[in-house]
Amino acid sequence: MKIYPIETGNFKLDGGAMFGVVPKSIWQKTNPADSNNLIEMSMRCMLIEDGNRLILIDTGLGNKQSEKFFSYYYLYGDFSLDKSLASYGFHRDDITDVFLTHLHFDHCGGSIQFNKDKTGYEPAFKNATFWSNENHWDWAIHPNSREKASFLKENINPIQESGQLRFIDLPKGDFSKASELDFGILFVDGHTEKQMIPHITYKGKTLVYMADLLPTTGHIPLPYVMGYDTRPLITMDEKQKFLNLAADNNFFLFLEHDPYHELCTVKHTEKGVRLNNTYTFNEVFN
Ligand SMILES: [Zn+2]
Repeated sequence: MKIYPIETGNFKLDGGAMFGVVPKSIWQKTNPADSNNLIEMSMRCMLIEDGNRLILIDTGLGNKQSEKFFSYYYLYGDFSLDKSLASYGFHRDDITDVFLTHLHFDHCGGSIQFNKDKTGYEPAFKNATFWSNENHWDWAIHPNSREKASFLKENINPIQESGQLRFIDLPKGDFSKASELDFGILFVDGHTEKQMIPHITYKGKTLVYMADLLPTTGHIPLPYVMGYDTRPLITMDEKQKFLNLAADNNFFLFLEHDPYHELCTVKHTEKGVRLNNTYTFNEVFN
């Protein structure tokens, strides 16, 4: 098995929304804001080369939204999914599986593109199976008013219509292996219904793709929960349980949204679990 970090682009979000009840005087130390109060975010996906399968976890924002939509998210930098794939000798048509942690647009928007004459949409990975789970899918296609702006029809319906969608069975226990994929999955409900957190054994270490359970290293202390989360108290419970396990077992946490750090580890302290160290992916897994 080989694993590669895949940068798909950077964007900005309101710092206050990203930190919920935590005051700016505190969060700006880890996640500095610009003059519009926006903080930098990455969309770092993961590519797993495993035998004859090439599995992409999350797909970034994509490129099919309107200029107006993109203007709200201040895209910056030179990263793109295609360039990142090419840097390792891959093309999007090589992808056999796309695993979507959840269907918020910054995680799944790259799954769907305009068709050739721009009259409709088509999968951006024509040879891939798209993986979600039934509970999350139902939640996303009947969105509550809070998450409606994050679940975009044009990202979701074309996946279903393509016939390339499959659902992962719900877990029998935390980190239980999905029968269809060779890694464990933790299902969490605080951020959204049944977000899936992949948990991969690689080169003798445990690598966990944090998605929106832990967007950046700045979100490690328990009350540092995004304003976007639908069930913040549940997020706090889920984070506590997970971070204790991560500190006990020296998990390497792969950060999708942290613009400064690809990986981190955590440790127990008197105040609770805190950041231990940050790493580049190659420092740990080369
Ligand atoms: Zn999300």
